[in-house]
Amino acid sequence: MELKESIICPGCACLCDDLDIILENGRPVAIHNVCTWGVGKFLAEKKLRPNKERRRLTDPQISRHGRAEKVSYEAALGEAAAILTQARRPVIYGLANSGAWAQEAALALTANLKARLEPADLAFMAPFYQAVQKHGLFWAPLEVIRDEADAVVYWGANPLHSCPRHAVRYAVFARGRFTERGIEDRQVAAVDIYRTELAGICHPYIQIDPFQEAALAEAVMASLNGHPASEDAPADADKLAAFFANAAYGVIFCGRGVAYGGPQVFDRLAALAARLNEKKPFVLFPLSGDFNSAGLYELLLRETGSPFAPDFADPAAPTSQASPVDFQEVDAVLVTGADLLWFLQAEQVQDLKKRQVPIVALSPFADRTTAQARVCLPVALDGIEAAEIAYRMDGLPVLLRPVASASAPPAHRVLADLNLFL
Ligand code: SF4
Repeated sequence: MELKESIICPGCACLCDDLDIILENGRPVAIHNVCTWGVGKFLAEKKLRPNKERRRLTDPQISRHGRAEKVSYEAALGEAAAILTQARRPVIYGLANSGAWAQEAALALTANLKARLEPADLAFMAPFYQAVQKHGLFWAPLEVIRDEADAVVYWGANPLHSCPRHAVRYAVFARGRFTERGIEDRQVAAVDIYRTELAGICHPYIQIDPFQEAALAEAVMASLNGHPASEDAPADADKLAAFFANAAYGVIFCGRGVAYGGPQVFDRLAALAARLNEKKPFVLFPLSGDFNSAGLYELLLRETGSPFAPDFADPAAPTSQASPVDFQEVDAVLVTGADLLWFLQAEQVQDLKKRQVPIVALSPFADRTTAQARVCLPVALDGIEAAEIAYRMDGLPVLLRPVASASAPPAHRVLADLNLFL
């Protein structure tokens, strides 16, 4: 038995750094200071069904005529390279659940292939960056939010399901410098189209109809500006306006639910945050669950100058696209750090199958995408079996050290090797 202390968890973008792990024969057998998601990541259990094992991929495979065949690493790389170089419109998809070195290697591969790199959460993050660019908001690290924020709003977000310890470590119950009594020193509100577990701790909890979110943000703004609410304004706008008016330092954590209401929701929320910022600090914060989504956007901003999807179809004039890719145009996909067929709508999956679009999948586990992939390349678990860099949801970079031995190479090595095969 061996005890490893203060280990960082790559289970979600909180990147909790206080895990204590007991290892037996080089594998984790017990973990302390962790949520059930983190346990699932270290013990390879299903995220939403603890105690159900996830099947590890052990060997590279090529599928021909519906039959998967184990092949050598080099043969799998050769087949993947042939698929991607012969494609007219290849896409590299995913990467929000990949380490920063894998993301860098994927960007180099994308440029070499004259392909498009499609972040798995582009539909959520692109409208956020557009809204921030337009309204010019400031940014705060999680520690500052924990210390200072006395008003917390979860909008279209349920941290208990996307980043389970967020409320305890940084936002609701955490004790900060000016919020020493935790939740007793804070007001917490939520806006969602469903009634979630947050209803027990959020006052007000505003449940609105789908597609009413932009109207609610506008009505709150009007109320703050002293204008009477219009007849068709969503109910409870005045309650939320009073909540904002009472804050000394506030934060609105937005979840993926915001993306379903269209880009105008982020725009209205950013306008609201900018208005509130005239009198007090107010942060608009996207609550991304994937453990290194922030690292991907840091990389894109650093290397391409834009947070949107880089497209190298014309290598002389690469572009960056804010709109998600039209998969009907795509004729080959490399997937890493995501489960593409789980994310796509049923008709998009059917279209890919009907057109027999070849998929190259890099994954530690069997999932829906690997089940349909032409080529499967097993990879190590980033941050558990292989060292990696990850960026916490507020942009803080951390080094993830491996705690267990790996039976497959890390994704960044596979992507770099594939680049050499082109
Ligand atoms: S909240 Fe996220 S980072 Fe923290 S222990 Fe849970 S899964 Fe791991």
